[in-house]
Amino acid sequence: MKRTVSIPVNLPSERFLPLMSECAEIFNAHVDWALTNSSYNKNKAHKELYHLLRLQHPSVPSALLQTVRDNALEAIKATKFKRVPKKKPTSGLRYDKRTMTLRGQQLTLSCIGKRVSLILNVPDYFKEIFETWDFCGATLTYTKNTKQFWVRLVFEAADVPQVKGVILGIDRGLYHQAVTSDGQFFSSSKIRGVQRRYLHNRRKLQQKGTRSAKRRLKAMSGHEKRFMKDTNHCVSKKLANQPGVVVFVLEDLSSIRTLARGKKMNKWLGNWAFYQQEQFLSYKAEALGKRVVHQDPRYTSQKCNVCKHIKRTNRKKSRFCCKNCGHRTHADLNAARNVRDDYILSSTQNGTQEQASVNAPYVSGEITLA
Ligand SMILES: [Zn+2]
Repeated sequence: MKRTVSIPVNLPSERFLPLMSECAEIFNAHVDWALTNSSYNKNKAHKELYHLLRLQHPSVPSALLQTVRDNALEAIKATKFKRVPKKKPTSGLRYDKRTMTLRGQQLTLSCIGKRVSLILNVPDYFKEIFETWDFCGATLTYTKNTKQFWVRLVFEAADVPQVKGVILGIDRGLYHQAVTSDGQFFSSSKIRGVQRRYLHNRRKLQQKGTRSAKRRLKAMSGHEKRFMKDTNHCVSKKLANQPGVVVFVLEDLSSIRTLARGKKMNKWLGNWAFYQQEQFLSYKAEALGKRVVHQDPRYTSQKCNVCKHIKRTNRKKSRFCCKNCGHRTHADLNAARNVRDDYILSSTQNGTQEQASVNAPYVSGEITLA
């Protein structure tokens, strides 16, 4: 498994900003070459472009030029010419073992002229990763607003052996951040309250439009982001740590937005915080030998979990009452159970996956999903 650690760094911008912009040109030159020649062959590109680009960008170190070449051709290969990856002058710059070293907390980066060496300020909660995981590469990015450089270091460790346990379905909605198929409710009323307050204050400040109001707005956006991040960490941690659970089934968001879920819900689904929660849960689960899977969300809110009868009118806001068998429960709980059962059903139908039945959702740890 991999983890990325982001650390702000102070770098001489008069050396790194021109470097980033030159590397972006080199990247784009390779992309153009790949398009004209319909090829992403690294050797061919090297033969035809290397000397020319060395002449055009004499100050860019040779190893870095080659790293950029590999990045560009890999990016084209990944999209198979369907999308054209282009870099802007301040786009992130990828470093690998040819162009950087990391020893303890000392980092050296290839740059225009001599290599730059710096000591990283590693927060305590990343120390374990720094000391015990393998370092495999990094990206240097620049935030224009704050004029701040960041290194994003990628570390790798062996996968944690998978544990045994049951499957948990999770429904996420407007009123609950998460509802689990075993009946736990994580309310989002606090989040909505805070977001409402920020929205209100934002509108007021925008109307004011003075310079200090703008400054205040910027600070506020930071506060709100940190609040959401913190909440997401808390909920995902509680979920990931559920004893005896090995698989978390979430609704597949790529198809969820096309469903009629109301304007408010669609807006919330488009929010970055919603995706962040999923990412946090994924990596926290992975670190414990558990995993997150996705399930097609069709009918999960209309279908009765007991008799499987599907009808739109089964659900009325937060109440679920089956028109067929009379089963009554909380609508989100019903949905969470459907997400779990649909996943178990589809994976047993596919045969190769989980060996589990609807009545006894139990997975053995040795079986992995394709
Ligand atoms: Zn029913």
